[in-house]
Amino acid sequence: MTATLDDLPIRDDLRGQRPYGAPQAPLPIALNVNENTHVISEDVADDIAGSIAKTISELNRYPDREFTDLREAFASYLGHGLTPEQIWAGNGSNEVLQQVLQAFAGPGRRVFGFSPTYSMYPLLTRGVGAEWVAGSRGPRYEITPEDAAEQVRAADADVVILCAPNNPTGTPLPIEVVESVYEAARGIVVVDEAYFEFAPSEAPSALTLLPGRERLIVSRTMSKAFAFAGARVGYLAADAAVTDALRLVRLPYHLSALTQAAAVAALRHSDEMLRTVDDIVVQRDRISATLEALGYDPYPSWSNFVMFGGVEDPQETWRRLYDRGVLIRDVGVAGHLRVSAGTESETTAFLDALAAVGDA
Ligand SMILES: *Cc1c(COP(=O)(O)O)cnc(C)c1O
Repeated sequence: MTATLDDLPIRDDLRGQRPYGAPQAPLPIALNVNENTHVISEDVADDIAGSIAKTISELNRYPDREFTDLREAFASYLGHGLTPEQIWAGNGSNEVLQQVLQAFAGPGRRVFGFSPTYSMYPLLTRGVGAEWVAGSRGPRYEITPEDAAEQVRAADADVVILCAPNNPTGTPLPIEVVESVYEAARGIVVVDEAYFEFAPSEAPSALTLLPGRERLIVSRTMSKAFAFAGARVGYLAADAAVTDALRLVRLPYHLSALTQAAAVAALRHSDEMLRTVDDIVVQRDRISATLEALGYDPYPSWSNFVMFGGVEDPQETWRRLYDRGVLIRDVGVAGHLRVSAGTESETTAFLDALAAVGDA
């Protein structure tokens, strides 16, 4: 006999909720969770392995709770005059966001974001017992500074999360929107720049807005551009007071010595780790152009993926691609699917498969 969740004394606000559930299937072409599908080069892999090996003789001890070397490495990677005191890191930016919500949201508080957006925001919000409030986007999922400010003022939230560029739509977020949302918000404003490295090089990061804005947080991850999703390393930059707030909620020694060593070693090779970004951008733009030629409606993307409309029956098209060994993502937006840009040959495999299965 197996019990169900309903048999357990689970929190009332978790009853009936669904966990994060992007399918993990061992298909030859997996373009569903926006990973960088290029493997790490052998030289860099050897250096990372060497650094991890050195920590093994110290694994009897707890790791550096302040992950000092890693914070220094992120500060120098990000530039913008940031100091290690302004940097925080966790096991993926999901954990970093969770810690932000633990410190600044929580029971009786509200978290606001412009829907459709990253599916983890509502889940993380509910996980800390706070309420998720979904705002709306304009035509083509874009947001104007005026509309954004008005919605943020009305929501009166404790935390506002902006996804720049937005997942799952790929939509760029003008820096003016960040400025106007910050002025309109009374609480914390998080700008999730998980895909920032794929944006045009002249696009300004929200990092440029940090001086003088102590309620602003910019989060990043090594999971996407850095091709390091399996290592689980995310980070943020903010006023040093924000990192003090996060120390109140993090678990002691939350970043293992193995993780710290791997990430510091990878950051020594950041140029090499990011070498594939240009190629991914080329594949992304090729996806958009080809989808358009096939009669679909791709959205402008500053990320490593493309969302496209004009799909009659997304579930059926998704399944036909699956049957051909190609895994993409049904993000639950009616008439749409999302695909990550892979290597040139993976991208070709997707485009050929889609042309072959036609529009379901
Ligand atoms: C992938 C993604 C993340 C990164 O998650 P990690 O926990 O760092 O792997 C964060 N935000 C958005 C919008 C994402 O799409």
